[in-house]
Amino acid sequence: MENKYIPFCQPMIGQEEIDEVVDTLKSGWLTTGPKTVRFEKMIAEYVGAKYAVAVNSCTAALHLSLLALNIGPGDEVITTTFTFASTANVIVQVGATPVFVDINRDSFNIDPEKIRKAITIRTKAIIPVHYGGQACDMDRIMEIAGEYKLAVIEDAAHAIGAEYKGRKIGTIGKATCFSFYVTKNLATGEGGAIATDDADIAAKAEVLKLHGMNRDAWKRYSKKGNWYYEIEECGWKYNMMDIQAALGIHQIKKLDGFNRTRREYAGIYDQELSKIGGVVIPREMEYGKHIYHLYPILLENADRAEFIEKMSANGVQCSVHFIPLHLQPYYRKNFGLKKEDFPNAQWVYEREVSLPLYPKMSRNDLDHVIHSVREVLR
Ligand SMILES: *Cc1c(COP(=O)(O)O)cnc(C)c1O
Repeated sequence: MENKYIPFCQPMIGQEEIDEVVDTLKSGWLTTGPKTVRFEKMIAEYVGAKYAVAVNSCTAALHLSLLALNIGPGDEVITTTFTFASTANVIVQVGATPVFVDINRDSFNIDPEKIRKAITIRTKAIIPVHYGGQACDMDRIMEIAGEYKLAVIEDAAHAIGAEYKGRKIGTIGKATCFSFYVTKNLATGEGGAIATDDADIAAKAEVLKLHGMNRDAWKRYSKKGNWYYEIEECGWKYNMMDIQAALGIHQIKKLDGFNRTRREYAGIYDQELSKIGGVVIPREMEYGKHIYHLYPILLENADRAEFIEKMSANGVQCSVHFIPLHLQPYYRKNFGLKKEDFPNAQWVYEREVSLPLYPKMSRNDLDHVIHSVREVLR
């Protein structure tokens, strides 16, 4: 076999991004400035939301969304166990209690029926995660949220450009949080944003993202502004830099193209990998448009660790998404979680492997991955 190395993921950075960063460096506006404001407008327009607040990570976006909705001590927030630590860490950080719910085996997304069973008088919010770039069953989640008057904060770290019933993710819940971390579909290195139609949430997040100050550095120091500021809240240092926004304003223009390539590649994987015995390909739910931030396969009878090792020896770097939170020492110990309580997440976790899938891969790379899966499982 040819000597190839295919990393698990790589951002797609073009000359436009490079030129824009250089322009930023020369402009003197390194931190939050006009490019951040421009990027926020582009995000809001892209997802169809009234407001977008750019921050330095999706973790910060989730944290600020909870704070803007006044969720804190004594409150419970329902989320999935099948996610990254951020989703639950921020719930703990505001002083609330995360209540974990199992997933469905077909979409790997939170099971709405199990949300219903987890609701108590203390429940204030639900954080569904659009796993891998596929929307959750939002009608059912919003129906339950409406019935019990719960806020929905979407963790859309994987899902900018994904659709639910013909509508882009970003306007269904009270707030939607995106990640622009280097591995995500739109990459600014580190970065994130809150999209919302709610003026109060946007205003509160805007203040909390920069020390609780009532105006940002751009407004204060530009000719339009002045030297005066007030600390209205005890805020955080979560603002996005213009260096990051410089990447974002070009990445977002290319996003539909990136996602189209991801879907096209996923189609090729689907077709070729479904012919290999013991491989279960991911399912696209009929209600939405999957953007394949991840391409998770399930191995029906192979040893997962051995598979990943052999793929690596073939030059293909794989990963696992996610080690469920109910298995993580902090959550297991502090919230008394047992694997028997999450049979679907446990079942998927034990079999799941994420294959490399990103627009920077060539058709040749894709064929090499397919060929390697076939060889390793032979
Ligand atoms: C990456 C990720 C996050 C955190 O994103 P950051 O921008 O790195 O803070 C949150 N939730 C999920 C599901 C993620 O995969």
